[in-house]
Amino acid sequence: MSELWRFSKDTQDVLNKTRLPSGGWINLWLSIGHYEVTQEAAERFGFSSAAVDILRDAAQDTDFYEFTLPSAHAQSPDKVAFMPPGAARDEAIEKGIDAYKRWVLNLFGQVRQAMLKNDTREALYWIGFVLHGLQDLGPHGGMPNPEHAALDSLNQSPDDDASSVQLSMYYTHEFLRHVREVLGESTFDLLRNWDGDGNLSKSEKETIFGHGWDLSIGAVIEFKKSGEKYLAMTPPPVSVRWPRERVFTEIIESLSDTIADRKLALVGKTRKTGVERSKPTFQPLGPAITPQPKAKWTVIVYMAGDDSNPNGIEYAVTQDLRELKDVGSYDLVNFLAQINIILYFPSATQTTYNVFNTL
Ligand SMILES: [Zn+2]
Repeated sequence: MSELWRFSKDTQDVLNKTRLPSGGWINLWLSIGHYEVTQEAAERFGFSSAAVDILRDAAQDTDFYEFTLPSAHAQSPDKVAFMPPGAARDEAIEKGIDAYKRWVLNLFGQVRQAMLKNDTREALYWIGFVLHGLQDLGPHGGMPNPEHAALDSLNQSPDDDASSVQLSMYYTHEFLRHVREVLGESTFDLLRNWDGDGNLSKSEKETIFGHGWDLSIGAVIEFKKSGEKYLAMTPPPVSVRWPRERVFTEIIESLSDTIADRKLALVGKTRKTGVERSKPTFQPLGPAITPQPKAKWTVIVYMAGDDSNPNGIEYAVTQDLRELKDVGSYDLVNFLAQINIILYFPSATQTTYNVFNTL
């Protein structure tokens, strides 16, 4: 917090527009940002006030401690912004996606390690820290910094896009729900019921990172310059966008693999291979209806549970949906589900999810 005065008003404005704004940091940035999105989700999941304190603080730190790392913000490397469409660019985009997925899973590994050494507070910190990157998947969705900076300078910042902020909320809820499944109820409760100290001090953070902030005036100037270069290109570069739902689904599946394998081992089944598993499994944004192969049977499931409660009917609905997905459609049976929940789309956009999706 004490670092902010170092930045001029102009630089603060740039920072504000650089990422999903960190509103609430010291009440300077007024829009909804990582702080608010994280707090809202953490409170819904019943985290204690000390735990919420750690989570929402950590969710902002990714912009300070890993500002220059594209994969920490769901972004492709800068060079991709200037590459012409083609195989080399596609490959660079896929590499960026892989780096992002690894970044998330690696941090989740840090969460588990911290829990193994009974350091609940540090585990909470890593959860908040990784949530930032998942939240950035909404507004950034693979967009490299030069394109981001160019849009900022045209007053079209992706971070100000309301539907992307909604998506950030969805990713936050869905990720936390899976963290609960993977860690198990009792470990998750240890995190939720944390009643020790709140957010980590600056020196504690420097100890766990092994370095201080990488956000600097120089980094911000470079960001701005890349935007100018981007706008000066002729012909104009082509936008970079990841298939967000595919990326998110793959992350969730990697997280869940451990428990799914455990369940299958119990009933003596083997897991479907990567080729057999259909991806993406859900598309909350403008679902595309793709033709499915014909099956002998179609099972249609409708579930309504819009009590907006992570421990209530809504939670049961999402659990049932996951169990259906674990089995999944195969050549004899197609499973289709329509669910009505509001947890992930609190402001009247729940119909977005209200379509039949093949599982
Ligand atoms: Zn970010």
